[in-house]
Amino acid sequence: MGARSGPQGTGPQEKVCGKADEMNWRKRSGQAARACVQLLFPLRCPVCDDIVSPFGEKICLDCMRKLRYVAPPRCLKCGKHIEEEGREYCHDCAKGRHRFTRGRSLYEYESVAKSIYRFKYGGRREYADFYGEEVARYLGGFLKQAHPAGILPIPLHARRLRKRGYNQAELLADAIGRYMGLPVYRKIVERVRDTTPMKLLNPQERQNNLKKAFHIVGNDVKLGERLPCVLLVDDIYTTGTTMDEVAGTLLDAGVKEVYFVTLASGRGL
Ligand SMILES: [Zn+2]
Ligand SMILES: [Zn+2]
Repeated sequence: MGARSGPQGTGPQEKVCGKADEMNWRKRSGQAARACVQLLFPLRCPVCDDIVSPFGEKICLDCMRKLRYVAPPRCLKCGKHIEEEGREYCHDCAKGRHRFTRGRSLYEYESVAKSIYRFKYGGRREYADFYGEEVARYLGGFLKQAHPAGILPIPLHARRLRKRGYNQAELLADAIGRYMGLPVYRKIVERVRDTTPMKLLNPQERQNNLKKAFHIVGNDVKLGERLPCVLLVDDIYTTGTTMDEVAGTLLDAGVKEVYFVTLASGRGL
């Protein structure tokens, strides 16, 4: 079980070769199709926003070095980097108030702040694929351990969604779902109150701002059976107020465990 398939020196070689040829052909034709699309619509780099160099990559090789991943030691609850060695939890999580089980973020916020801004407000939907692949590559082990039955993006209020045209958390959730082979559920939680942007509020105001802001769609009494464990996806984790509100809403509806991943984490955003 779990053994890697590889050339073992036995078995019907012709058949294996035939399959390998077919797979190579499919791979090559897929690459050719992608190259044609990229010639017509060249991909922009998620870091510098220029056309990606070298052609065919998802990010410039030079820009790759500018991304700063959240380094260990990390908080066992929210996944933020901890300055002092020997601590298991950050100051915030040591108070033990979070409702989610555990979460991780991929980058330190400062290194991707402009990119996330363009991804969110500047129409750069194409960044989602690169970011989804990055989450799968670097946080795949965490996700497999969490073993969620499905992914839920943090929803936008309908009014804001109409104005912006898309929800960046949904695009990211879709990409992560593709790379991790997990289903994405966009219509389980909805945001029923159009709240003040969190960056304008202090921690207490943030909590009050989100009271009863989320709601389970319909009356799914078997939600906990269908989705005992879920993964929430958002672009940024700061104080965790949003994650707690959505996690609380899901736990109250019967879900047993709620994990999260975000692109970036930072303080005082
Ligand atoms: Zn670049
Ligand atoms: Zn923490």
